[in-house]
Amino acid sequence: MPELPAVETLRQIIEEKVVGIRIMTFEITDPKIYKDSPMLRTMRLTGLHITDTLRRGKYLFLHFSDGKWLLLHFGMTGDILFAKEGDKVLYARMHIAFANHIIMHFADPRKFGKAALLDSAQDYIEEKHLGPDARTIEESAFLSLLKESGQKIKPLLLDQKQLAGIGNWIADEMLFAAKVFPEERAAKIGTMQAKKLYKEMRRIIEQAIQYNTHRGNFPSAYFVNLRREGAACPRCGHAIQKVISGGRSSYFCPHCQPPKNVYF
Ligand SMILES: [Zn+2]
Repeated sequence: MPELPAVETLRQIIEEKVVGIRIMTFEITDPKIYKDSPMLRTMRLTGLHITDTLRRGKYLFLHFSDGKWLLLHFGMTGDILFAKEGDKVLYARMHIAFANHIIMHFADPRKFGKAALLDSAQDYIEEKHLGPDARTIEESAFLSLLKESGQKIKPLLLDQKQLAGIGNWIADEMLFAAKVFPEERAAKIGTMQAKKLYKEMRRIIEQAIQYNTHRGNFPSAYFVNLRREGAACPRCGHAIQKVISGGRSSYFCPHCQPPKNVYF
């Protein structure tokens, strides 16, 4: 699933390639994309341009020169592909063609992604109760989030209403880097360790954006390369274990991330 860094990378490419460029055509090729937003059918973009973009967590919003917004959420397999006229794009569901001959496709093999026409991105963020963005949240707000939570740390990190943008692998990576057991009570994590967790979250997100989120490019010390049971911990060599936390598989090193405050 595209997580915050992948969506941020797409946002930056859109800013670079197509913001301010006149739109020639907008076409929806998969009617199922209307499902959540019948209004999307009425969206007319010819002659307009994208004025700016916004990302909150894993949601991307494109703002057009008529004031409307297009929401894109990528689901499991959604992506934006930039093509030229005549290029064959598989699983394309809709596309926008720009005057600079770039065609931006929303492609999605498994079709869990969605799009919607909105009057206001901010209203949508409020309706969905999306939490602060994990890339820009202040340290003090992050520390309060942990202190005031009744949740375990891993489910808290994945809860988009608390903190928007963290998915399964970033959560495992930051917990590993900060040596926190995934089932730890969030409120019981000490300040020093909570600060470390914040620092590692920021570092991992920025590095993932820089590495263009292709996991193959991550340094081998990255935990994401080892998310399987029995793999050797890159720090101490102990076998990686798996727990199910908040319904999701969590991988951790029992030696580097020993349980401290866990109340089952
Ligand atoms: Zn270890």
